[in-house]
Amino acid sequence: MTTTVLVVEDESAILELISINLEFDGYRVWHACDARQALALIRDELPDVILLDWMLPDIPGVTLARQLRGEARTHDIPLIMLTAKTDERDKIEGLEAGADDYVTKPFSPKELRARIKALLRRRAPQLTDDTVHAGALRLDPATRRASVGDQPLTLGPTEFRLLHFFMTHAGRVFSRAQLLDQVWGDHVFVEERTVDVHIRRLRRALEPTGREDTVETVRGAGYRFSLPTVPRRPP
Ligand code: CA
Repeated sequence: MTTTVLVVEDESAILELISINLEFDGYRVWHACDARQALALIRDELPDVILLDWMLPDIPGVTLARQLRGEARTHDIPLIMLTAKTDERDKIEGLEAGADDYVTKPFSPKELRARIKALLRRRAPQLTDDTVHAGALRLDPATRRASVGDQPLTLGPTEFRLLHFFMTHAGRVFSRAQLLDQVWGDHVFVEERTVDVHIRRLRRALEPTGREDTVETVRGAGYRFSLPTVPRRPP
């Protein structure tokens, strides 16, 4: 799944600089020139990251940040404030409004890219290309390969994304609705039982490795990926 970055910025030169660099890195970039446009885009589909300028033509970026943090659907979106302000109080206000990070203009594209990457690692590691390990399980998003020890796993694209999400969020319980949002995307209309179908496929793929029990069903709550404490012998 391509990582989508929504850039909310009214200065076209900066917008262009950001877009060219992020698109080069493989991100999908959406533009909004003001808060109203940004909200319209977000209503249709949630981006994975928002870069939000402080000075917008309609409302201050910091007000929009507060609004996004106040709504359940947008509460967790990783958000970086862009601003010419260097005043300590402004930085604090931005962070208090819910921004995860802060980039002061003028910034180098290299710095911005590094900060986006760092933020994704912290807040949405399933969107990075970092190799993930869980016990003997290894998953490499860059080559789209997963293995247990030296045994490669055969996974469909959805099972691969599901396993990637689970491995980067081990130990936590996710409802079917949450898994749909995180793995399929929140704009996709699929039934919750679709999740069960893909969980079954994932378990089946893990079966020959003796690890199928790592995707646990939590009654009335959803699913949890847990790390086996004692490795089981393959049958
Ligand atoms: Ca501006």
